[in-house]
Amino acid sequence: MNGCLALDIGGTKTSAALFTTEGRIVDDYVKTIPTPANEGEEAVYQSIKKLLTHIFEHFGIRREALLGIGVGSPGPLDRTNGIIIHAPLMGWRDFPIAKRLNADFGLPVSIDNDANLGALAEQRCGAVQGLRNVLYLTVSTGCGCGIMIDGKIYHGKNDGAGEVGHLSIDPEGPECPCGGRGCFELYASGTALTAAMRTDMASGKSSLAFEAAGYRPEALSGALLHEAAEKGDAYALELYRREGYYLGIGIANLFNIFDAEALVLGGGVTKAKRFFCDTLIETAQKRCIQKLERNQIRYSELNDRVVLHGAFFLIKEQ
Ligand SMILES: [Zn+2]
Repeated sequence: MNGCLALDIGGTKTSAALFTTEGRIVDDYVKTIPTPANEGEEAVYQSIKKLLTHIFEHFGIRREALLGIGVGSPGPLDRTNGIIIHAPLMGWRDFPIAKRLNADFGLPVSIDNDANLGALAEQRCGAVQGLRNVLYLTVSTGCGCGIMIDGKIYHGKNDGAGEVGHLSIDPEGPECPCGGRGCFELYASGTALTAAMRTDMASGKSSLAFEAAGYRPEALSGALLHEAAEKGDAYALELYRREGYYLGIGIANLFNIFDAEALVLGGGVTKAKRFFCDTLIETAQKRCIQKLERNQIRYSELNDRVVLHGAFFLIKEQ
């Protein structure tokens, strides 16, 4: 066989899978491990090495049978030299991931940013298959965007395109670690949702989510908010309505810049899409210069596996 290994390195978990050359995950087997982000970059690398070794052993494959290893990682990256320039969640700075994996596994290695690989996967085999000019917006810890123009990822001068989490939507808003103020992800990311829950709980608002967390700020999570919304909790429904409003504003900005055929939303927060999708589309439609159709905003079909699929296409198309 001539398969590919795909690796999705995240701040909290890392996944790997073996793909056939047709783009199917062999045995539908995806192995996921926690990323030991607090233990430093060498510990993270060793855990990745162990994970890939596990995939080799699980399938009894020889490296000669593989085309390469595709890697999705948070950016910023230097794709040409296969270096993760800065990944604050994992404590990485100028980490030569491609060189290390190549030395350990003897295979060609290609890397790209996880949002870019999300866009690639959705355009090749997901929710916007066959369209040429599309965007993929991931909403999880932060917000990032993959941009496909005429069927190709648009990377920009420094591989830095798509940092839409730092579009300012309120110049007088709170300070952001990036140096700006009122950045989109301070309002719309999963981190922003849990931060709002903490503030609202402290100010005495009531919600089933706060009860479920035992009123401990550190126990608040997107999952508890989602559960509360499922039970009709007024606070949770209102917070998701606000989420839809902010996502709608960010997405209208993106359509006004790119006039894209469609945008795919992915990332953990979109699991609760039914609670915010109406507000999102209404807000975005109000603010778009061109007519925005409802089906131009779509939701990921590849979900947790989207980056792995993108990493497969990265290797296959080289
Ligand atoms: Zn920012």
